[in-house]
Amino acid sequence: MLIVQKYGGTSVGNPERIKNVATRVARCRAAGDQVVVVVSAMSGVTDSLIKLAKEIMPLPSEREMDVLLATGEQTTIALTAMALHALGLQAVSLTGAQAGILTDGVHTKAKIQNITPKRVHELLNAGHVVIVAGFQGETPDGHITTLGRGGSDLTAIALAAALKAGLCQIYTDVDGVYTADPRIVPGARKLPEISYDEMLELASLGAKVMQSRSVEFAKKFGVVFEVRSSLNDNPGTIVKEETKSMEDIVIRGVSLDKNQAKVTLVAVPDKPGVAARIFKALGDAAINVDMIVQNVSHGSGKPATDLSFTVDKPDLLKAQKVIAGLKKEIGFGEVIAAEKIGKLSIVGVGMKSHSGVAGKMFETLAKEGVNIDMISTSEIKISVVIDLAKGEAAMKAIHAAFLGA
Ligand code: ADP
Ligand code: ASP
Ligand code: MG
Repeated sequence: MLIVQKYGGTSVGNPERIKNVATRVARCRAAGDQVVVVVSAMSGVTDSLIKLAKEIMPLPSEREMDVLLATGEQTTIALTAMALHALGLQAVSLTGAQAGILTDGVHTKAKIQNITPKRVHELLNAGHVVIVAGFQGETPDGHITTLGRGGSDLTAIALAAALKAGLCQIYTDVDGVYTADPRIVPGARKLPEISYDEMLELASLGAKVMQSRSVEFAKKFGVVFEVRSSLNDNPGTIVKEETKSMEDIVIRGVSLDKNQAKVTLVAVPDKPGVAARIFKALGDAAINVDMIVQNVSHGSGKPATDLSFTVDKPDLLKAQKVIAGLKKEIGFGEVIAAEKIGKLSIVGVGMKSHSGVAGKMFETLAKEGVNIDMISTSEIKISVVIDLAKGEAAMKAIHAAFLGA
């Protein structure tokens, strides 16, 4: 069988951990399986590279950021190959580009366009373990790109789809997907299984155990995968298509996203086309806008609205720049940026068929003395923006109310 295994930052965080990965891979080889290993940069490396760049300038060229960030994974593929050689196994490391991963040109959050894993197949057939650098690819004209934070998950899932792997395993520093981040909520429980849609919501709402785009990709191509620990042999969490029995559970999990920032434009002229102009400009700058709230102010004078939206914190500076560029044209008032916000969400496919969930959530927050700043809902989730300082306490209270302490 062909197995794709992905090892995240902490799983390759030091030489001992890299040797541990090699030992695990060697076990699969001994059992006769072919293995493609996708590795992340050693934990902390991507963050320190970003910090370094910001010390040179606050808004560095995104193309150069990708050249820089790709080096983190290039280090670990080589070290992992060496660790396998030390065990007497044949192994070859490949960058994303060498593995045939082609992307669009949206630097720092490129999308995979297609994968031609010819070289991977050849090396596997020649008896090698193939080690592929996660998080990176190249454009058709040869520029290095990266796939967004946590993007090694995407590399693994996309390779599993392209290679038609029999198994796709995401190895990390927790045993699987929990009802909440076990580092924040001690009473969180491991889920034996979760649907793509629930995993996708949890991931996009801050549960960084999986990159959300990788889950989207898995759903689209039907890649069933398992999230499990690189440090033990406990069964992990299977992520797959929704089954009937999953709907019996109203809330699958709780997540807290501390990585969002809120921008408020005060006194935006209330007339057709204004929102379109603002969000088109943000979209053109490849800034993902998440929640949007608009309030018509009923005061005297010209009709105006306050418009708030959230973006990923790393995009805040860029968003402020785009908005500043529109001020003259649109004519709004003050622009307020708030970084100390948290987005708390509950997720579950069972919400489709159960009522009273929102009421219970808001009541729990009220009891905790937490003010709700923004609300957004979908069929299977409810999210609120709250004060970051109260985020973790609110998360614990919500988890206790819906999933037990
Ligand atoms: P890796 O480096 O292996 O990709 P990450 O740090 O990206 O690992 O993701 C694993 C971390 O995700 C865990 O250490 C955990 O703190 C966090 N996490 C957040 N939400 C959850 C959840 N619902 N279940 C499990 N882990 C979660
Ligand atoms: N090294 C990259 C990051 O820290 C990609 C990954 O770990 O998946 O975001
Ligand atoms: Mg990760």
